[in-house]
Amino acid sequence: MSRDFLYTGSPARIVFREGGSASAGEWVETLACSKALVLSTQQQKADAEALALRLGPLCVGVFAGAVMHTPVEVTEAAMQVVRQSGADCVVSFGGGSTTGLGKAIAYRTDLPQIVIPTTYAGSEVTPILGQTEGGRKTTVRHASILPEVVIYDAALTTGLPVAMSVTSGLNAMAHAVEALYARDCNPISSLMAVEGLRAFQSSLPGIMVAPDDMALRADALYGAWLCGTVLGTVGMALHHKICHTLGGTFDTPHAETHAIMLPHTAAYNAVSVPALLAPVAEIFGGSVDGSVGGGLWDFAKGIGAPMALKDLGLSEADLDRAAAIATENPYWNPRPIDRASIRALLQDAFEGRRPT
Ligand code: NAD
Repeated sequence: MSRDFLYTGSPARIVFREGGSASAGEWVETLACSKALVLSTQQQKADAEALALRLGPLCVGVFAGAVMHTPVEVTEAAMQVVRQSGADCVVSFGGGSTTGLGKAIAYRTDLPQIVIPTTYAGSEVTPILGQTEGGRKTTVRHASILPEVVIYDAALTTGLPVAMSVTSGLNAMAHAVEALYARDCNPISSLMAVEGLRAFQSSLPGIMVAPDDMALRADALYGAWLCGTVLGTVGMALHHKICHTLGGTFDTPHAETHAIMLPHTAAYNAVSVPALLAPVAEIFGGSVDGSVGGGLWDFAKGIGAPMALKDLGLSEADLDRAAAIATENPYWNPRPIDRASIRALLQDAFEGRRPT
């Protein structure tokens, strides 16, 4: 790797501790705040209310309306609560959807954010906000969007159902795989990416059989932090473009889409950058046949991941449209992209074929 690089460290404070969410109040005060608004989805409302209770007088309310893709209408409803309550910070408790709402509020108000992640999505360590308006998803990147404090508490992830743990973990791994061949990758981002991949390789199979195992949960969450960090610091390429297209156009579920596509996009790019992706083949056992995509596919299958786009309700006609959209605007990728190749890649993913 070249010794000529640019590295920018994120200014966020990362707290990694089992039971660490109990210190959320101390972090509210450290940020010189005293009126926290707790955010969550409807599904995690009870946990958010329990957190609000622990915050006591430092909390001015709970908004439990976060949903996938951060619709602007939901953000506006939350903004009303922010204004009415006089909140001076937000505490986002949940996965990427809740983190997204906190970021959308911070983007509009510059309020500081404390995030307590309960999935492996990684949004909590990126300055990126994806939001939807009138069915269109747009992405913004801004310093105000990066959360100030992230508390990783593995105890909160034992309840993440195994199927979601698997897809959320593969979603995180996709950030790391793309970081390895990013145009602006650097020695530190690559170290973090490889360490993140190893953390998931060593934890997800065990989580399948022992979801309450705290050491395995901590390893997976550690992987989520590493993979999320590289997502926030280096550029993504083909994989994220295709998943964005499928999610945005056909509303396919976020983590599942990433999980299914990862072996195929990695295999496609491994043709052009085999040396950069060699750690992936080595970590996931594809070194037996030297196959990056095959190793990832075997790993995903072994942990019970969804394997085929057809199982997400897509049709073959949808693939034609997806290939057209994903190739209409040029963007950087280590291997040149053309419509026919991407259509073929999507067909393999549609059928759940093992890439070689
Ligand atoms: P999610 O936040 O939508 O969570 C899925 C469901 O699981 C929700 O109902 C949630 O309440 C529930 N849940 C979360 N943690 C749980 C737990 N520990 N136990 C039980 N239930 C739990 O899903 P996600 O995959 O974390 O996030 C997806 C969203 O995040 C997408 O909108 C995606 O675009 C966004 N995202 C953004 C970035 C970024 O950098 N901007 C990065 C990754 C993901």
